[in-house]
Amino acid sequence: MSTPPLASGPHGPSALRPLLHAVLDALADGTRARGGPLPPGGPEQVTARLRDAVGDLLPEQGDPDALRTLVTALAEGAADPADPLCAAHLHCPPLAVAVAADLAASALNPSLDSWDQAPAASALEALLTRTLARQAGLADALVTTGGTESNQLALLLARELHGAGLRLVHGANAHHSLPRAAWLLGLPDPVAVPTPAGTLDPVALDEALTRLPGPHLVAATAGTTDAGLIDPLPDIAALCAAHGARLHIDAAYAGPLLFSDTHRARLTGLDAAHTVTLDLHKLGWQPVAAGLLAVRDPADLTPLQQRADYLNADDDTDAGLPDLLGRSPRTSRRPDALKIAVTLKALGRSGLGALVDQVLDHARHLADLVAADPALDLYDRPALSTVLFRPAGAPDTTVAAIRRRLLTDGRAVLGRARPDGRLWLKATLLNPHTRPADLTRLLAHVTALAEGHTPA
Ligand SMILES: *Cc1c(COP(=O)(O)O)cnc(C)c1O
Repeated sequence: MSTPPLASGPHGPSALRPLLHAVLDALADGTRARGGPLPPGGPEQVTARLRDAVGDLLPEQGDPDALRTLVTALAEGAADPADPLCAAHLHCPPLAVAVAADLAASALNPSLDSWDQAPAASALEALLTRTLARQAGLADALVTTGGTESNQLALLLARELHGAGLRLVHGANAHHSLPRAAWLLGLPDPVAVPTPAGTLDPVALDEALTRLPGPHLVAATAGTTDAGLIDPLPDIAALCAAHGARLHIDAAYAGPLLFSDTHRARLTGLDAAHTVTLDLHKLGWQPVAAGLLAVRDPADLTPLQQRADYLNADDDTDAGLPDLLGRSPRTSRRPDALKIAVTLKALGRSGLGALVDQVLDHARHLADLVAADPALDLYDRPALSTVLFRPAGAPDTTVAAIRRRLLTDGRAVLGRARPDGRLWLKATLLNPHTRPADLTRLLAHVTALAEGHTPA
């Protein structure tokens, strides 16, 4: 076998072209073979089909059809968020333009740990992070692998400023990555303030901050993962200021409301945070990973400074080579900035805002359909693009069984949540192409199964 071609360099594009045709054909074939939002049969059948298709993964002699075979198998066995009935998680269908940009990022493979691996990519990342930080009313931002890394970094930066006794105070509605980050960083046990109404109650927060010895880091949420609710940010910011607490806002879900003229005001108070988590692989339509941590004071990033002579020698830095190592706790790092930057520029603020508006409209429509159907109960009017509902009168075991049956049949992918202790089905609508008829069909699948479960 001759030496395989490379993706970059003068011959890269001509080597890639036929391979891309194979990938696109395989995506089309696999998607057609699946024929729905996810492969039927459940884990055993999906795994068996994949193993059959792959065969020997490390044969002695290479297989020239490997690309086509594996991509076809992956597409056939995918949960496809571009299918309107794939609506369980904050798992978005990526925009074609973002994925095309990501191909270029892979081909050029700049690594953001030193300027001599990423001359233009590092300059683009700097432009992107400032642009997005300014949208949030903050000064700078770091690119991360997502909300989890952003939340961890926010706790790390807070600990470096306030010491190892820093206590995280968060709502019970907060993302699990926040208490986990406290554990990871060896901070005191975090305190979860109960959130019976789904959002952080300023009175309960005030009481917790008064009772607990500081220093405190308060984590508020803009867009809870389960219900899409936004904590009362201005009230929380005022309390943090009064108690001298540091404020982190996890806006992994709702952050892109900043692009929407209709909904932007709901993030009022975001700019009072010391740090803000943003995640453009949710409402942002990026392929994973596309996270950011925005910071109000760029000096807060100083603890991330790191010296490694081979990457950022003092004399190189003195001579004007940008020092990138302090922009992440990672070393080798993909240029995730490219796909995000391309998306911002290609769609513009209004284009992104329109996508946000559309999926929020879809959620309202789905809630209307649920509310109008006596066979279904609606948990609440949606705040973002998440709708919680359940078959009227069904026990939790039936709700759980309906969700798994839809998964196993490959008919629909719905999530689940227990906002009030009861089990609800969760539809997280992130597909701007979804039509009203798709939502009607989604509910019809649920009501048909619920009828089957109802005792005669
Ligand atoms: C999704 C989510 C996260 C975690 O983000 P990842 O990108 O999955 O790491 C954190 N916080 C909230 C509110 C989220 O919805």
